[in-house]
Amino acid sequence: MSDDARAPRSRLAQRLFLLFVLVAVLPLALTDWIATLATTQVAEDLSLGARSQATRQVSRQVLDRLLNAKSLLRLAPEAPPGGSADAALTEPAGLGQVFHQVTLLGAQGQTHWPASEPASLASVWASADSGLERPQAAHSAAEVQLRLDFSLPSQPRVLLGAFRDGSLRWIAEVDSGHLWAPLTDAGLDTAWSVRDNRGRLLVRHVGEDSPLQRESDLAEARGDVVSSNTQLFLAGELGAGEWLFTQQAPRPRVRWQGLPLALWLGAVALLGLLAVALFSHWSIRRTLQPLRQLTQGTQALAAGAAGTRVEIRRDDEIGDLADAFNDMAQRIETQIGTLEGLAAIDRDILDGVSFERVAGHALQRLASRYPRACASVNWREGASALHRSWMTRGPADALLIRSEQLELDGEALMRFAGLFRDELLDPAQPAAASRQALPRWLCPGDPARVATIALLPLRHEGQTQALIVLGLAEAADDAALQPAREVRDRLAVAMAARSREQELVYRAAHDSLTGLANRYGLHQRIEQTLDRLADDAALAVLSLDLDHFKDVNDTLGHEAGDELLCAASRRLKSCVPASALVARPGGDEFILLLPGADPAAAATLARLAIAALGRPFTLRGVEQRLGASVGIALHPHHGRTREELLRCADIALFAAKAAGRGQHMLFTPELDRAARERVQLQAELRRALERNEFVVHYQPRVQPRDGRILSAEALIRWQHPERGLLYPGAFIDVAESSGLIDEIGRWVLEAACTQAAAWRREGTPLRRISVNVSTRQLVSGELTGFVRDALSHSGLPAEALELEVTESLLMGDPGEACAQLAEMRRWGVTIALDDFGTGYSSMAILRQLPIDVMKIDRSFVVGLGTDDGAMAVTRAIVALARSLRLHLVAEGIETEAQAEVLRSMGCDELQGYLFSRPVPADLFELLPGLRQGPALVAQD
Ligand code: C2E
Ligand code: MG
Ligand code: MG
Repeated sequence: MSDDARAPRSRLAQRLFLLFVLVAVLPLALTDWIATLATTQVAEDLSLGARSQATRQVSRQVLDRLLNAKSLLRLAPEAPPGGSADAALTEPAGLGQVFHQVTLLGAQGQTHWPASEPASLASVWASADSGLERPQAAHSAAEVQLRLDFSLPSQPRVLLGAFRDGSLRWIAEVDSGHLWAPLTDAGLDTAWSVRDNRGRLLVRHVGEDSPLQRESDLAEARGDVVSSNTQLFLAGELGAGEWLFTQQAPRPRVRWQGLPLALWLGAVALLGLLAVALFSHWSIRRTLQPLRQLTQGTQALAAGAAGTRVEIRRDDEIGDLADAFNDMAQRIETQIGTLEGLAAIDRDILDGVSFERVAGHALQRLASRYPRACASVNWREGASALHRSWMTRGPADALLIRSEQLELDGEALMRFAGLFRDELLDPAQPAAASRQALPRWLCPGDPARVATIALLPLRHEGQTQALIVLGLAEAADDAALQPAREVRDRLAVAMAARSREQELVYRAAHDSLTGLANRYGLHQRIEQTLDRLADDAALAVLSLDLDHFKDVNDTLGHEAGDELLCAASRRLKSCVPASALVARPGGDEFILLLPGADPAAAATLARLAIAALGRPFTLRGVEQRLGASVGIALHPHHGRTREELLRCADIALFAAKAAGRGQHMLFTPELDRAARERVQLQAELRRALERNEFVVHYQPRVQPRDGRILSAEALIRWQHPERGLLYPGAFIDVAESSGLIDEIGRWVLEAACTQAAAWRREGTPLRRISVNVSTRQLVSGELTGFVRDALSHSGLPAEALELEVTESLLMGDPGEACAQLAEMRRWGVTIALDDFGTGYSSMAILRQLPIDVMKIDRSFVVGLGTDDGAMAVTRAIVALARSLRLHLVAEGIETEAQAEVLRSMGCDELQGYLFSRPVPADLFELLPGLRQGPALVAQD
């Protein structure tokens, strides 16, 4: 299949071809048309002239014959030739050739010739004469007159009558064959007709070849026939009306070699057109073929075939274009080769492959750019080691990359570090190092072939980190080093990427504050340690948490907290053995990893750590005390994986903190069980909220004087489907740590407010309902909204609600918590400080707190009457409340003695089992103290 056939039909070629053909067709067709018209016109004009002349000639010949006949008659004798009028008329001399018959009207009678003709012509003449329109007299002047006789059905007869002395003597019928002979001789393709002045047909002759064989044909063929007419005037000579001669001949056709001219012209035009088409096709193809090649070449180039060239050899503009294309393709190929080589290095950089592999690619690149050169790449590894990769040629000139590690002495290191800029050395020059004296790392490869050594140092972060040594086989100038510099720049990027990556890896695995391993680094180290560890080898994981660190952070600020963390980590590092790892996975949490440690060693380390952190820190000149709790998990007893070991250590830590902080705890399955129970409890709490399993019990607060119930504390209970009624101590901690306390607290608020509002509507004389609020509820910031909702839903006035908060609210963000309490206080809500005496409140802080009520904790009440210390503390608390003008409530009163002491101290309200245990709402309503009666002890 030819290229042409395969190539898609070119639209441009089609258009050009059509244009060429169109441009050729129009003038050819026009020329043909004009030539045909003009030639036909000339031919017709010539033919018409000839025909007119022929018509005149023929009519003249007929006239000549008539005049000849006239002469003969005029000269004819008066008497018959034989002298006897009766005798049959013998042929008068010469008349026989001209006349068909003759009648002599003599004195003796009529003589007729030829004898065979039956009748004389006298009667015929007479009838012909009578048919004349004009009177006889009009023609009398003529000696010989002509008459036409149409009496016979055949051809009309032409009669001539010769007068003598005014009388008709001779009547002769002109022989029609003789008379009309000029018509028959005039041509085979013509048709002739002669008519008299009245339009009567005298004769019609149609030539054998004439298309007008019949009269009717005339009408049909009118378009193809030309007529020429001429009139023959007979009045003067023969005393008759004029005759009209009409010649009809076929319209002339211009022909050549038997074929019409139009056919010839058409054929010539077609041939011309064909020639134009062939030429234009050839010419277009000749022009477009290389263009198509160039287009295909460009497309191939665009598709990435850098080796594309076009084979067009011409000495015109297209040849120039092809040369330019090939030149451009060559440059692109070179450029792409360069870019691909550099891109391979870039890919290495992005893939994070080793610098050795990047150096290998760099050497390959150098080998392709400097085919006759040898090269090496040298880079620093550590303090004095130099890694060297160089290229050498193997069998079949295959490129081989070799690597080695060199140890540099001080002098060599100085020399390496002293390479600042690109240098060209001539190894033969005495000024430069001689070939033998060149240190190994300055040798590019095979020194035997080297005429010039180019040194291209690579500097990173102000130091010479690597060096490209290029051994060129010929003397080279600075420009020749440009490709090598590009390679060096790439290596610089690789080196920067390597150091950046190393830094990133370090940062990813280390805590920026303390420099210890972070959670990610810790995980990596545990995994690595476990990978290397034998199945039964010991490994201790200690989870350490700073006690009260959050307080320091909250009170002294995060910067002070950071300083403290750094100091704590330093102490930890100083007390652990070198084989141990100290990590800080987050916050105030540390992990110690001690390979090979048994339980005793782990416990010792824990004690050491706790002791180290227990010593006071001096922070900005202020002494600060911390403490630490430690949980210990051991491989392989407690777990074999990172997750297991860390989880067990955390569980043990949780237990250590729950057991009173400042101590260490070894993981046990029981702890695990407790932890699991906590998790389960959490899930159950969630479900309890959904299933509405909580209830509120109410404990009265009574007037010391008469036991009248003044207010009530709402206390939550959980009606557990399996475990029965649960008290807050069994679940409030979990609710707080899981964040569920918000939802639970909201529920209690709604329930207590609704109940209190109902009692108020029923007229129960209860001044206030008191609801416990967890500090966490204040931290979340949603409490005010919940309280507002509960009040508005229940319709309870704000004054009838009291919120009990504990001193721990002063620990977190007291400002924020106090702002919320103050706002609710403005609404009329009373705020009580619960469990007073168990926290760390100072007088100064107490004064700023937005509180109305102080509740003395049960722990002081218990010792009243028996413990003097308790008595003293209680008295102090009472005095404090008095001085702060706070309403004082004592709780946990179980005995009358306790009640009596508190009464005597002037407590405003008393609360305790002595008066009533917390009871459900319906039982509360039955308490006698509610309706002014004596206080009773109720059991729940
Ligand atoms: P609290 O606010 O100090 O409540 C008083 C606790 O002392 C109640 O225990 C109550 O039954 C108990 N109590 C009262 N009088 C006596 C007595 O004479 N002797 C003895 N031994 N105990 C007495 P309960 O109901 O187990 O509540 C324990 C703690 O749970 C409460 O201490 C309170 O801090 C918390 N709590 C209770 N209900 C809620 C609540 O709805 N929300 C929040 N956040 N905490 C609650
Ligand atoms: Mg309370
Ligand atoms: Mg309390």
